[in-house]
Amino acid sequence: MGNNSIPKTMKALVLPEPGKFEVREVAVPEPADGEVLCRIRAVAICGSDPEIIRGDLAGFWPPFYPFIPGHEWAGEVVALGKGVHTFKVGDRVAGQAHKGCGYCRRCMEGSYNICENYGKPETGHRHYGFTHNGAYAQFNAYSIRSLTLLPSHISFKEGALVDTSGVVMHGMELTGITAGGTVVVIGPGPIGLIAMRMAKALGASKVIAVGRRDRLKVAKELCADEAVDFEKTNPIEAVKALTNGLGADEVFECSGAAGTMLQAVYMVRRGGKVGLLGVPEGKVADPIPTRYVVSNEISIYGSKANPNVSPKIVNLVATGNLKLKDLVSHTFPLEQFAEALDTFVSRKGCALKVVLEPNGKE
Ligand SMILES: [Zn+2]
Ligand SMILES: [Zn+2]
Repeated sequence: MGNNSIPKTMKALVLPEPGKFEVREVAVPEPADGEVLCRIRAVAICGSDPEIIRGDLAGFWPPFYPFIPGHEWAGEVVALGKGVHTFKVGDRVAGQAHKGCGYCRRCMEGSYNICENYGKPETGHRHYGFTHNGAYAQFNAYSIRSLTLLPSHISFKEGALVDTSGVVMHGMELTGITAGGTVVVIGPGPIGLIAMRMAKALGASKVIAVGRRDRLKVAKELCADEAVDFEKTNPIEAVKALTNGLGADEVFECSGAAGTMLQAVYMVRRGGKVGLLGVPEGKVADPIPTRYVVSNEISIYGSKANPNVSPKIVNLVATGNLKLKDLVSHTFPLEQFAEALDTFVSRKGCALKVVLEPNGKE
């Protein structure tokens, strides 16, 4: 590897078994062919991480223990594996979690987020932080397919939200955004807040946030033109009232809660589009009013992860068209992971994105 500054061991957040975690010293991985070793400078806690750490999906996410989670990250390239020509040591990069096998039909079509060989490491498939060790560590080796160059004026903290923001952009690429139109975002968590800003960046003229309590307040302050509190008012009627009785052009469900898909269907206009970005629990099964959907030509898009969007996100952030900086509410060193996780899960201090810095501050 030829770089003396890379230590043999590193600090990492390790899940030794379902429901347990600890920061311990482990070996620094070596980059294989087509991979580079990265120093992780910032890694954001995702809504899916607490579920993985609790062990709710043990056997699938993660498929083995001990395991290192974490997938929303940015850092710098410190060593190159064989056959790497497009990155060099010192490059600043943002990561993305999915790397497809590259040769199944879905991957060939560019939909590597739904690779037919998902979860089969022997095919070359990787889902970093879910089925393969991730970024809650000082270093990790990544396929060059999962990296996007980050210009020097974008901080690592913002870079850690490139994966997160890509989830939003992919959903909006599926539905399209009506130029000059109205977008509703249900669920003003981090994904929802990014969705409100992204909708504007992609041409929407009005954004309505549907939520409640502190986070709805934050949405109104930071991102939304109108705020609808579903605890105080019927959100479908409120959206209709704000759109001359017609409904919104697009609605994005970002909460994963039960019942919200149905609300979204009734919030869009005739010919409107619903994007499902929130990941519901397995037991959630909203009924679809089939006749209403058919008669009104309503389209519903399931949207998973963030294929082929990271460079576009980086460009939007670089040009100031997508602001991410103020969505990072807290930062912690990796050693304080327990406190960071608690801050995120309990939404302490109105926490939005909570970022770990395993190699110190930038
Ligand atoms: Zn995530
Ligand atoms: Zn594939």
